[in-house]
Amino acid sequence: MRILLLSDIHGNKHGLQAALDAAGRVDRIVCLGDVVGYGAFPNECCEILRGLDAVCLSGNHDAAALNLISIEWFNDVATEAILWTRKQLSPENHAWLSSLPGERAFPEERFQAVHASLRSPWEEYILNKKIALQSFERMEQPLCFYGHTHVADLYWTRQEDVQKTPQPPIEYAAFPTGGGVEMEEGELYLLNPGSCGQPRDGNPDARFALFETEDRIVDVFCVEYDTHAARRAIIEAGLPRLLGDRLLTGQ
Ligand code: ZN
Repeated sequence: MRILLLSDIHGNKHGLQAALDAAGRVDRIVCLGDVVGYGAFPNECCEILRGLDAVCLSGNHDAAALNLISIEWFNDVATEAILWTRKQLSPENHAWLSSLPGERAFPEERFQAVHASLRSPWEEYILNKKIALQSFERMEQPLCFYGHTHVADLYWTRQEDVQKTPQPPIEYAAFPTGGGVEMEEGELYLLNPGSCGQPRDGNPDARFALFETEDRIVDVFCVEYDTHAARRAIIEAGLPRLLGDRLLTGQ
């Protein structure tokens, strides 16, 4: 089975469509959450994913748009975008987003998926090996996809070491221009496909990953899209200009 992984779309239909087009034919789409928030097309992004029968998780911005979590800790521009998104969401898309879980397991294909981390599915940023260890200790499958940081990267370690030692050696690789991994038995992998709608690693391209479940291979891809159109729509919608400008630089 070939699975397309998407994360952190954030209402950017241009980025989403570019990733879908570049990915081509897939057997299943798994989206790791934050479908809305920041971008000008929250309803369109929900509808595209619903139309493709994507298996979707809910992210912290989705939860905030539904008023399920407090926006006290959001910065000013994120708060403004959430308040705008709340007003935009159609009842159907509101109901669909409300039905999504923060994490999910796929035992047949031997992987898990979570928006932020297995310790805290909506909040924790996996930004270093120490934090990654907290998720490794909670993994029930050899592979877990996560999002939330908007950076495509990979942590891996030996399952045996995680069980035996309090500080197992953990490896790390970032994929600012794409990359991938051929997984080996006995290892645990935490992989972030990167953000489809608001990358933050200095490369403005939309990101996605393809997982070949039989071969146990994941590849991360970057695809150019019309960042200017996405930016223009944000400004025309009356959203903070910064949210459009950052799409041009991938920051
Ligand atoms: Zn996000």
